[in-house]
Parts: sequence; structure tokens; C-alpha cells
Amino acid sequence: MNRWVKFQEIKAAAGIEAVLTHYQWESLRRRGNQVQGRCPIHRGQRPDAFHADLRKSIFHCFSCHAHGSVLDLVAAMEQCSIREAALWLEERFGVKPISPGPERGVGSGGEQKLVRKKERIAAPLSFKLRPVDSAHPYLTQRGIDADTATRFGVGYYAGPGLMHGRVVIPIHDERGRMLAYAGRSLDGAHPKYKMPAGFHKSGVLFNLHRAAACGQDRVVVVEGFFDCMKLHQAGQSGVVALMGCSLSGDQERLLTQRFSHIVLMLDADAAGLSASRMIAGRLTKHGVAEIVPLPAGCQPDQLSSEEICRALSNAARRERASSKV
Ligand SMILES: [Zn+2]
Repeated sequence: MNRWVKFQEIKAAAGIEAVLTHYQWESLRRRGNQVQGRCPIHRGQRPDAFHADLRKSIFHCFSCHAHGSVLDLVAAMEQCSIREAALWLEERFGVKPISPGPERGVGSGGEQKLVRKKERIAAPLSFKLRPVDSAHPYLTQRGIDADTATRFGVGYYAGPGLMHGRVVIPIHDERGRMLAYAGRSLDGAHPKYKMPAGFHKSGVLFNLHRAAACGQDRVVVVEGFFDCMKLHQAGQSGVVALMGCSLSGDQERLLTQRFSHIVLMLDADAAGLSASRMIAGRLTKHGVAEIVPLPAGCQPDQLSSEEICRALSNAARRERASSKV
């Protein structure tokens, strides 16, 4: 449910200095009301890129061009929406939330303002989380070797912010520009995957830029990040993940623009099986769409490299046999 957020009050109560202190960004120098140093957002090396004015509570980075109020700073550090940044500040700096909810009537005037989720067009990220540990035991347990993890930029992140203590997975657009990180919890903490609020996974296919670079017209479609990495590790580099088991219109367009032969290898559970049938039905008008059967209840990331290759080659054999008819 939307809550009312008193924007100005939060900005006044939580100065930019307190927020910079919270992040313990050690490389900033202060002179009077001015602060200068390395940028905590994109974490570049330039020692004078980042400027903050403590009196006006604004900042600007001359390298990554991030700038704005204390809310923008928190949104950039936490990879969240402005509204979430406001709630984050409210929580940490004890700004009293405003009691009347939207049921009192939207637009009833006053200075209360409903901070709406700031829709971000998928703009490339201007920073990288580092360091990440690509040899973390969690990845080993899931059968992902350090080479694969490094190739995908995946690893455990111990630094500050939204993704703290999670395995982070960079997500790119079809041109290979990084759009967001997904953060997988290691201990079953909710949510299993954290994504920044402004990011819409339905507009993206995970790993498409690498799969497209293979130059083949055949691609395997899986549900999850780990399925995708396991297939890549098994030598199937033409693979993309839906990040779920539904195919959006945007994803359909991205797929069919590049590939004419689509192999569906979704989870063999009820949701995956019915999604496979539905998606195959939609894709056949664009070319070949086939479904790879897996053992009941099984998902691709539970299979060994040999089992993955066998399942795919059995499907290819069946495909050849049926096309001879
Ligand atoms: Zn910067």
C-alpha cells in the first residue's frame, strides 16, 4: 500500500552529511560546508569527482554525473526508487511518518505529497559493485564454478547498500549495457531475489547480449539465472533466462528478432510445463519452437553438464525425425 511521505521534512531531517557518514565513505575531505572526494556511487578513482554541499544538502559527481538531493543519493546507493529512499531515511533518521493515508482523499492539498515510484527508463548503471567473491561457497554448492561466475560477473557482495550480504548477478540489456543487479539471498531471507525498484525484468532477457554474440539462430530459453549459468557452463552458450516462467511481449520481440529456432527448457513443475506449452504456441508463428522434456519436478540447474547436453541432443534428434515426415 502506498504511504504518504513528507518529502521536505525528510530532506530537512536527514542531511547529506549524516547520510555520507552512514555509508562511512572515508575518502571525502571537508572544507567548510563543502565536501569533495572519490564518488561513493560509481566508486571511481578520481579523487575530486564527487562534490557535496552540506548546507544545501545536494551533491554532484563530475565522473558519473549522478547529482541531486539526499534522496537521490540514497536512491543511487541503495539502487531503489525515490519513494523507497524516503522511507529508508524515515526509518533511519526517525522522521515521523504522516498519519493520514490515501483514504483521506488524494490531492487534498497541504504540503503532503505522495512520492510515487519514480519510473526509470532502463538506464545503464553507472557503477559496479566491487569487490565480489566469485568463488564463494554458495556458488560452489549450486554447481557454479569460479570461471563461470567471473564470466557472468556474479559473486558474493559484502559491501554496503541494498545488495549487502547477497550474491549479486548483473543484468544487461541486449547491447551489453548493465542495467541492474539482482541479489540472491543465501540463507532463505525474503525476498529470495532483490531487484532495484525501478527495474522491470519483463523488458529484458538475461544473458541475451552473450547469446546473440554466438551468432547462431538457435537459442535455449530457461527460467532462472542459475539455470542459465549451468547451461553456459555445459557449453551451451546460446542461452537466455526469462527470470521467471512467463514471456512478456517485449521478451518475445527480443527473442524472435534474433532467433528463429527457440528451445524451451523450463522447470518440469506444473507452472513450467503449462508456461512451456503456452510460450511454444506463441512462438511457432515466428519459427521453430520446441520443448525439452526434463524429469518430473526437475529444473535445469539441478542437472549435470552431461545431463543437460543429453536432454538437448535428444530433443534435437526428435526435432530432426519429425521434420523428415
Ligand atoms: Zn560518480
